[in-house]
Amino acid sequence: MKENKIPYKTYLDESEIPTQWYNVRADMKNKPAPLLNPATHKPMTAEELSPVFCDELIAQELNVTDAFIDIPEEIQDFYKMYRPSPLIRAYFLEKALDTPAKIYYKFEGNNTSGSHKLNSAIAQAYYAKKQGLKGVTTETGAGQWGTALSMACSYFGLDCKVYMVKVSYEQKPFRREVMRTYGASVTPSPSMTTEIGKKILAEHPGTTGSLGCAISEAVEVATHTEGYRYVLGSVLNQVLLHQSIIGLETKTALDKLGVKPDIIIGCAGGGSNLGGLISPFMGEKLRGEADYRIIAVEPASCPSFTRGKFAYDFCDTGMVCPLAKMYTLGSGFIPSANHAGGLRYHGMSSTLSQLYHDGLMEATSVEQTEVFKAAEQFARVEGILPAPESSHAIRVAVDEALKCKETGEEKTIVFGLTGTGYFDMVAYEKFNDGEMTDYIPTDEELAESISKLPVVEENF
Ligand SMILES: *Cc1c(COP(=O)(O)O)cnc(C)c1O
Repeated sequence: MKENKIPYKTYLDESEIPTQWYNVRADMKNKPAPLLNPATHKPMTAEELSPVFCDELIAQELNVTDAFIDIPEEIQDFYKMYRPSPLIRAYFLEKALDTPAKIYYKFEGNNTSGSHKLNSAIAQAYYAKKQGLKGVTTETGAGQWGTALSMACSYFGLDCKVYMVKVSYEQKPFRREVMRTYGASVTPSPSMTTEIGKKILAEHPGTTGSLGCAISEAVEVATHTEGYRYVLGSVLNQVLLHQSIIGLETKTALDKLGVKPDIIIGCAGGGSNLGGLISPFMGEKLRGEADYRIIAVEPASCPSFTRGKFAYDFCDTGMVCPLAKMYTLGSGFIPSANHAGGLRYHGMSSTLSQLYHDGLMEATSVEQTEVFKAAEQFARVEGILPAPESSHAIRVAVDEALKCKETGEEKTIVFGLTGTGYFDMVAYEKFNDGEMTDYIPTDEELAESISKLPVVEENF
């Protein structure tokens, strides 16, 4: 079976962990469109962003020219606690599928937060500390980002205020306790602690919340509290930059094995793990050095790429954040309370949106029960209990491998296994009990929310 001597797991040496992040925007001919001031519709300046974000992170957000950015030593040291993450050859899955395809996955779930989010959380906390701030505010959906950030903040001695989407707060009490154990305060969103929360509750009593609502609340608190800034766990260019560590490690490991992937697959919520995983490969594609099929996988219940519109939109429900040009379902879109927790965001990274718009990557959407079927199969043969979000990528990796079985092609597939699913047992329970449903929004629902996009003339 291991005729080609590829090991089950490939770990890099500590000395091979990247010391620079890669900024794919530097190699893009069509740069992602700039963030716009929601009042003037002019590109946001660093000065305008400074009440909301940390200064160094703003510089990274606006940097479209430097391909490589040094990872500060303190962050490199922290990375060494839980990185490199393994690149695993899915021999058992290949066997179960009886496919000639070769499947690899990069596993980011080997840290207490249970996902890739720690890669950016530690960077953002570091820059907040370096700026002399007291603390940061944020939102969390499924809870992974809040957990990662609370770990990072406790490491650097920063206060951490988390607004957690209400449905998750109720479904995942243990996530909440992990955050509190690391010293964070956790408030279910929408809440009565902010003006925007009160307004949303008045308009939608009984709402289970959304990431868009929670972002509005966290931004309000950051901008009204001395010594605080807001941090975000996905969507932004700076987050994709930090997550490039995933792709850089993957590429180094594959190069060492002498393997060139044909297909690279990742789940897409706001786009950070996928953006990070594909960065160095996309860089080669943009520079004309190599070609890869790259597939973003999103839930059919929140299909930003596949059914959204490429347009300027608010990043939050309260419409206080800058406007970003992205594939969006409209900032008022509140997805059904299903289990694709970390993928329930109305928009998408503007970098990935531009790459998708330019035909450099593909996107597909999958239904929840199919996702859990793949998760179950994967757990049984590969031993890791995957997060529901990650299982979207597993679903499509399995489907591509099954296509290879039909055609006899020996394609090499790499996918991102972003995290573990231990806190998602309510969802697994529904699946095991045969009670899982697939809610897919109707065309009318989407048209209604997309019709409310702001009108922006792009003549800046
Ligand atoms: C947050 C999360 C995602 C989705 O977020 P992206 O920014 O799109 O990567 C996927 N998987 C896990 C485990 C997550 O925690």
